[in-house]
Amino acid sequence: MADITMERTTPTKAITMIIDCHGHYTTAPTPLREFRARQIAAHEAGGAFDASLTISDDDIRTSLEKSQLKMQRERGADLTIFSPIAGQMAHHTGNEAVSLRWTAVCNDLVYRVCNLYPENFVGVCQLPQSPGVPPANSIPELERCVRELGFVGCNLNPDPAGGYWTDPPLTDRWWYPLYEKMVELDVPAMVHVSSSCNPNFHGTGAHYINGDTTAFMQFLTSDLFRDFPTLRFIIPHGGGAAPYHWGRYRGLAQDLKRPPLTELLLKNVFFDTCVYHHAGVELLTKVIPVENILFGSEMVGAVRGIDPETGFYFDDTKRYVDAVSYLTDMDKKKIYEDNTRRVFPRLDARLSKSGK
Ligand SMILES: [Zn+2]
Repeated sequence: MADITMERTTPTKAITMIIDCHGHYTTAPTPLREFRARQIAAHEAGGAFDASLTISDDDIRTSLEKSQLKMQRERGADLTIFSPIAGQMAHHTGNEAVSLRWTAVCNDLVYRVCNLYPENFVGVCQLPQSPGVPPANSIPELERCVRELGFVGCNLNPDPAGGYWTDPPLTDRWWYPLYEKMVELDVPAMVHVSSSCNPNFHGTGAHYINGDTTAFMQFLTSDLFRDFPTLRFIIPHGGGAAPYHWGRYRGLAQDLKRPPLTELLLKNVFFDTCVYHHAGVELLTKVIPVENILFGSEMVGAVRGIDPETGFYFDDTKRYVDAVSYLTDMDKKKIYEDNTRRVFPRLDARLSKSGK
């Protein structure tokens, strides 16, 4: 019988690259928010809005140099998978046309970031979802972002109604045309809600974690991955409540006569490390196979302050992963690089092409 302890402590290949799978352009220059405010005002007044967004390259550089880029350097990450501000996707605002225009503007801005800093950022797109509108309508923007802008994935909002969950579950055939396109393009989606307009749910504190947990349970009760064996989702924020309640979910799967979770979902569902404390990352890495964990920080985003107990930023998540003593160098390499390259094949191809 193999000595697992020995195997896990054997030094292995060194970590070569650290990829943060979860970053948003939360520091975008103010004209972006002004554009959005004017767009919404025009929609509410029933008028047309065809203004374009004007932001200089220098303003983009300034917005990043003092925040995301500085933190990348200080914390030791090499590359961030970067997407528009999640809370500002606000698919519940306006209508499909408003969402489409706003989405294109946000994606184009991320594209500019990725062009200005190709070594530091790679794009993931927002989708022009809107409550009650078939997800199939998001396909043209997904194709544009992947084929023309070189993006490597998308953020998929499981609840475009912003906390009211009026659309069908992620496992409903309603979503299938979009999944067919994701499979064809070989891009994953991060399941990511936007802001909450339901006063019961705080955005990042409740709605985000609800969204993550809800998506996981939807996947558990469906045959989605039998229909789409290569479809891949990242459930962010550490997978919501799922890893913490892993026994509950294993038990529910058993009671519901579903296959074991490893068989049912773990070829298709991945979790990031955005739980913001060491014990949480320990739990995640004890419960979930390392092959299913992608390093992520969501910086600069959900929690911006410094933890008085440690003296470090809550979202400095690399620190927590580094400190997990029982993870081998190979385990950490999987979390920091290999798993993300496997889940985002278009990123892997690009990195391989540039000799990384
Ligand atoms: Zn996020």
